[in-house]
Formats: sequence, C-alpha cells, structure tokens
Amino acid sequence: MFSYRHAFHAGNHADVLKHLCLIACLDHLMLKPTPLTLVDTHAGAGGYPLDGAQARTSAESDHGVMRLLAAAQDSPPPAAVARYIDVLSQFNPTRWHHYPGSPRILQSLMRADAGDRLRLFELHPTDSRLLRKTMAATELPASQIAVTVKDGFEGLKALLPPPAGPGGSKRALVLMDPSYELKTDYARVSQSMQDALKRFANGCYLVWYPLIARPEAHQLPRRLKTLANQAGRAWLHATLSIGQAPGDEPGMRGLTASGMFIINPPHVLAEQLREATPWLMQALGQGKGQALQVETSA
Ligand code: SAM
Repeated sequence: MFSYRHAFHAGNHADVLKHLCLIACLDHLMLKPTPLTLVDTHAGAGGYPLDGAQARTSAESDHGVMRLLAAAQDSPPPAAVARYIDVLSQFNPTRWHHYPGSPRILQSLMRADAGDRLRLFELHPTDSRLLRKTMAATELPASQIAVTVKDGFEGLKALLPPPAGPGGSKRALVLMDPSYELKTDYARVSQSMQDALKRFANGCYLVWYPLIARPEAHQLPRRLKTLANQAGRAWLHATLSIGQAPGDEPGMRGLTASGMFIINPPHVLAEQLREATPWLMQALGQGKGQALQVETSA
C-alpha cells in the first residue's frame, strides 16, 4: 500500500511552503505561555539526509531549500524566510546536510517547561521506526512526545479537544500532511477537518495538498473554505507554483505546485507571506506559471 517515502522529496518547494507556514504559526501561538497540544497526523520519518541516496534520486531540494539558501547569500531574506532558515540551521551547524521534517521542527520549537505536548502519527513501517528512533534521541519525556503507528485521521479524534491548561484555556495546532497516494485522502482530509472543527473549533489547522491536474486536488481547498466559513472560522489559503523552466515539458519535473490551507491562522501570516512573495519568487521561480498567491477569508 505504501510506496510514498518523504525522503525522496525532503526540502523541495512544497516543504518550503509547508514548513515556513508551520513555523510562522507556531511562533505566533507561542507568544502565549499556556500549553499547546501539537499534532502531526502524517509525520513521516522525522528528518532526512539531504545527501542521502533517496534525496539525491531526483534532487528535489536543489529546486527548493538549496535555492533558497543560495538566494539568501545574495540578498537578505524577508522575516518569515529568515526565521525558517534560522530554524533549519539549528540542524546544520557546520554544513547543510540535513532537512528536518515537521516532527523535528515541532519538537525543536515546543516548550518543555510550558507543558506543550507533541503527538505524531505515521503508518509506514520503516518511516515509523525511523521516526521513533529520531524522537527518542530528543530525550523529552514520553508524556510530552508520543509516536503512534496508527492512522492519523483516526488518531486525531481522540486528541480533540485538547486538555485545558492553567486558567482553563485549550490550545492546539494540527498539521495534516498526507501523501495523497490514495485518492481517498482528499475526502478523508475534509471529513477529518469537519470532525475536528466540531470537536474543537478554536484549533489552528494546517492542511497541505498537491496542486495537480486531478479534480479532487482543486475541490479540496473549496471544500475546506466552505467548512471554515460554516464554522465561522478565519482561513488562509496559500499556493506556491515554481512554474515551468524554458524547455521543460509539463510534468517533467514532478510536482511544481502545492497549497497550504490554514484554519484559524495567525492574523499576521497573510502579511508575512505577501511581504515574502517577491523574494521567494525570485529564489524559487523557474519560469512560466510561477506564482505565490495568498487568499484569506473576509
Ligand atoms: N509531515 C511530514 C513532514 O512535513 O516532514 C511529511 C509527511 S509525508 C508527506 C506523508 C506521510 O504520511 C508518509 O510518511 C506516509 O507514510 C504517511 N501516511 C500515509 N497515510 C497515513 C495515515 N492514514 N496515517 C498516518 N500516516 C500516514
């Protein structure tokens, strides 16, 4: 069933968009001292060697994070990109060789003393083993980090609403980042979001999806907008397309565009992304069709 391995794609333009948004949301939520429940429903292996055989197979990071790092040498990046690079550089103290997946990013930003909890789900037998090993090395107590080999859509249900912190506040951030290997993932994402909003409408929910020529991929953000609007929640929809380089045939470079749909985004995120757009496009854009678009609820 599982042929998708994120190690082949780590650090590509889609990871840049996803993790840049993730870090910006986390930073904002962490301005308040009350504890956060962090959930990654499709966690992957946790971290990836950029020079490993899998990463070098199609060298996707060369068109993602590596281009970004090269551009940052030439012109100072805008604040949200600088912060993303800053978080990544903690994993690369001497040279760029490692790309942290979302679990490592979440773990590196969570606050042990504030009582934040991290809950990770991964179904792939090898990647879940790698994930356990990676997270065990962080030495945070099991009460704060749990890796579960279970369907992340199902696992999320039991975690919402999150437990109340001191003063009774309940806070959670959920990243939903399936591989969409199964066509049914699109419908499962919207069902899961519908259920999550019923259980806990105040959560910050981040959904990544590939922008590909498949009706489900175009229906998903429309469906998520409807769900968020019906629940009376604010949303942000960002899409990044690196475009097509001169001489490229459509589809020749694999995935060229993806989207992030965020329910209850930090109010500063749209502005941060818009401010970063010209720089990001200069860094990542390849030609025809390149664009970073940000749309928000009214
Ligand atoms: N979130 C990771 C990151 O940003 O570093 C990448 C995750 S990757 C795109 C998607 C992962 O979901 C794959 O490792 C796949 O094995 C796993 N997966 C697929 N279906 C799943 C399910 N129903 N529940 C949990 N994990 C699943």
